[in-house]
Formats: sequence, structure tokens, C-alpha cells
Amino acid sequence: MRYLIITDLHANLEGLQACLAAAEGRYDTVICCGDIVGYGPDPNAVTDWVRANVVAVVRGNHDKACCGITDAEEFNQAARDAALWTRDCLTPENLEYLRNLPVGPTVVDGFQIVHGSIRDEDEYVFVVQDAAQDFPNLGHQLTFFGHTHLQGGFAQLPDQELRAIRPSYHPGIATLRLEIEENVTYLVNPGSTGQPRDGDSRAAFVIYYPDEGRGLVEYWRVPYEIEATQKKMMSAGLPQVLALRLNFGR
Ligand code: ZN
Repeated sequence: MRYLIITDLHANLEGLQACLAAAEGRYDTVICCGDIVGYGPDPNAVTDWVRANVVAVVRGNHDKACCGITDAEEFNQAARDAALWTRDCLTPENLEYLRNLPVGPTVVDGFQIVHGSIRDEDEYVFVVQDAAQDFPNLGHQLTFFGHTHLQGGFAQLPDQELRAIRPSYHPGIATLRLEIEENVTYLVNPGSTGQPRDGDSRAAFVIYYPDEGRGLVEYWRVPYEIEATQKKMMSAGLPQVLALRLNFGR
């Protein structure tokens, strides 16, 4: 089995489609670490695709806000405006689907997925100090997470030392091949397909090959039609700042 693992789709259909095109033929199953909607202009199309194609998914904070589980009060103004726009836009079926998304962690075939951290779906794991809180509680060698929109992750070595995993951003295809090693524990962030924030505007994902050696995680970045997404956002009346940030991957 080969897994395409995506997160933070944020209703960006062009970003998702570019990832799927690049990954085509390289995976059997799709897994999603949450934030299907919020920010972007295509919440129904992206949710429809997730419902039809993703076999394991956990909910994200924007999924909760957009379907009314939370009230979006903790969001900044632009994120709140987008969440309320999304709530109005979603079909009853998609609202119902988002309301019923499971809370992470969810275990899939020996690895697990969460949205934020293992302890709290809304908590950000930005730096090794954050990851240090998570590693003692993981209970699995390999955990995929999202929420920060930063491609990379963390590894805990056999001597307990923690290291950040940083894919290099050369253009083209896979940016890093991470070989899973014995007695090392991993927190892997695929990066966002819909709103990257690590200074690289390209859409991000990983492919996990559990049967290659002890396991192999391949980090990918792919360009997509940012202008097409931005045009849709502007004609939908979504906040301009959310469209502009896509140019910079911030
Ligand atoms: Zn997100």
C-alpha cells in the first residue's frame, strides 16, 4: 500500500488538483489530516472530493468553525469572515459531513494522523520545543500532522535528541526522501495543499511507502494556478489579504 497524505486543503481546488496530478500513479490510498475548508473559494468541490476519495481523515479547527461546531470567535477577522462565508456556501450534506468528522488521533495501518498535536487538535507544533511535548505521548513510530502549514516535521533519535526535518526547496519533484530508521520516532507534516506558509507558494504533500525498507516518506512541492484561485476568491468576496498571501506562501 502507498499513501498520499495531505492536509490543510482549505477549499483550494487548484492546489489540490496540482498535488493529485503530480502524485498520480504513485499512491493507492489518500489520508487527510484536516482543514478541508476555510479560506479558499471551493469548499463544496473540495469536500465532495474528500468524501469520495479519502479513506481516513481527522477534523481541523477550520472544519469545526465552518460547520458551526465552534463559533470562529478565536479567529482573526479575515479567517472569521472566510469561515462564515464558507458556512453559508456549504451544502447541507457537506455541512453534515464536516460536523461528523472524527477527532484525532486516528490510527491507520500502523501509523497515526492528528490535526494539531497528539494532545490537542487545536495546538500548533511549530518548533522542537513544541514537539518535545508530543513525543512522549505518541505511542507510534510515525505520526502525520498538519495545522501549521509548514512542510517538514521532527524526529526523536534513539538517544532522545530531537531534530527538525527540513525539506530543501529545490524546484521540480520530490524535495526530500526520508528513510524511516529503527528506534527513531517521527512527526511528519506534509505541508499544506491549499495555503502554504513556509515561504514557498507551491502546494505541498507527502507520499508514504511503508514497504520500502523500514518505510519511506517522500516530500513534494508542486506549482499550481494561484491566479485562478485568487480570481475566484475575489469574485466570491473573500478577504483580499487571504488571496494575496497565496503569492508568498505566507
Ligand atoms: Zn489549516
